[in-house]
Amino acid sequence: MRFIETLEKLRLYLGSKPALTPEEKELLGKIREDLNYFPTCVIHRDDLIEYAYDAHLIKDNEMVTLGKKIGIDSWEQLSSVRLPVIGYASNLPVACCPLCGEQPRFEHGYWYCENVDCQREWSCMKYVWLKYTDKTAFLFGCDIGFISKTNRTNEMSLYLPVDLFRMHFGKEPEKEDIFHIFKYGDMNDIYGLREDGFILEKVTDNKGLERFGPRAYWLSCYPKD
Ligand SMILES: [Zn+2]
Repeated sequence: MRFIETLEKLRLYLGSKPALTPEEKELLGKIREDLNYFPTCVIHRDDLIEYAYDAHLIKDNEMVTLGKKIGIDSWEQLSSVRLPVIGYASNLPVACCPLCGEQPRFEHGYWYCENVDCQREWSCMKYVWLKYTDKTAFLFGCDIGFISKTNRTNEMSLYLPVDLFRMHFGKEPEKEDIFHIFKYGDMNDIYGLREDGFILEKVTDNKGLERFGPRAYWLSCYPKD
């Protein structure tokens, strides 16, 4: 994918510069945002010749419009029919209830278990658990993420949204450090999940309580092996 490769090169180039102008900083932010999207096809002027279009009379802005329209059209066709097949073949993670394994519905940032006997909810956003170190210290002072002082290792740590983790560190987090917010029904949920090898930690900081409510726990996305 040519656009992605060029954007990625530009991101690495800007990221490696010792100092950035305000314009470069803004551009780098935009590139990081755009890298969340992947173009579903690439079209070149020359591709249009075989369909009898006088390709080199087409203006740049007309190419952009055409590309956007083809992108929307192919997404609509791909998403309903092909995406489930390709997603399955690519082994993409499918959302399922951590308690009962049922598939959920999505609403306002949360997954809701469709099993009438369960109906638990958990966050679509994932968070990376970070210890306080020289490399992470700057994040603790930024008011991004959620600070935990009463965690399982008795050190100060931070739950950082995974998109910000990727942005700041330019890599994927370790599997065992990825958490989501889980809202429990009763304490048996917590005991059962711990027995299944999941790590749970109650949300106790004010910002977290305000955002997620009193029933929220940090729950590891994957159980320990
Ligand atoms: Zn469930």
